[in-house]
Order: sequence, then structure tokens, then C-alpha cells
Amino acid sequence: MPRRRATLPRMRIVEKHLRRHNLARVLDCGPLRTRRGLIVGLVNVGEDSDEIWVEKTLPRAERLFTILHERVHLRRQIAGEELPDPAIEEAYVELETVARASPSLLSRLPYPTLLLTLKKAITSGRLDPNRRKDLDKIYRRIHSLIL
Ligand SMILES: [Zn+2]
Repeated sequence: MPRRRATLPRMRIVEKHLRRHNLARVLDCGPLRTRRGLIVGLVNVGEDSDEIWVEKTLPRAERLFTILHERVHLRRQIAGEELPDPAIEEAYVELETVARASPSLLSRLPYPTLLLTLKKAITSGRLDPNRRKDLDKIYRRIHSLIL
């Protein structure tokens, strides 16, 4: 039975030039975060690796958001919450990431007004994603946005 944890797991963060990596080589490493078609982050979990890779040339705020996004992937994997459709899974991960990101981080990303409005809509500005009960409520709101 997977642990339905609400807190994000910790993992070693490695900054790399992911844009130089061969896409075919990294595709089986797990879900990929892309920006304009370029890989910006991924969870690399395997027998000889246990790391989150993030594109080192990203602006700092986007790098932090990407790391948070990859940790959400990891949490959902460990909790057995991953969905079979990668596109829908990506939407869930992105919205949980918005719920978890601080307002100051969101305000430094592209489209800050949209991101802050989304965060408020899915957390009411008070739900704590690190608490299981609150995370379940956040997910009910995320479902209503996605489905
Ligand atoms: Zn992703």
C-alpha cells in the first residue's frame, strides 16, 4: 500500500545543461518538465541515481518552481497517485505545484496575476498542501478545473 503522504520528499538536486541532453536517452527517466519544447527538469530515479535534474540556465524563480514541480511528481509517484495519461498527470502536477509555491515565488514567474489567482482558487489562500486533509480538498478543486 503506497504511503499517501502530503509532504514533499527530499531528493538531491543537480543543476545541468539539460537542453544539451539527448531527449531519447532521458525519456525513460520519468516525467519531463518542458518549456517551449525544451526539457527543463526531470526526476531521475534508478538503480544508480536518485536525483532531480534541473536546467541550470533557467532564471532562479523558474528553477525553484521546476524543482518544486519535480518533487510533486515524486510525491505523487510514492503515494501511488500518478495517472496513466501523462498529459493529464502533468496538469495535476502543475496545479499542485502552484498550490505549494509561495506567493513571492509565483509573483516572479511569467503570468504572475494568473498564477496567484489560480493559487487562491485552489487553496482559498488558507489550505495547507502539506496536510493530507487540506491536500484532498485542494485536489477536489483541481479536479473541477481539469475535468
Ligand atoms: Zn512534469
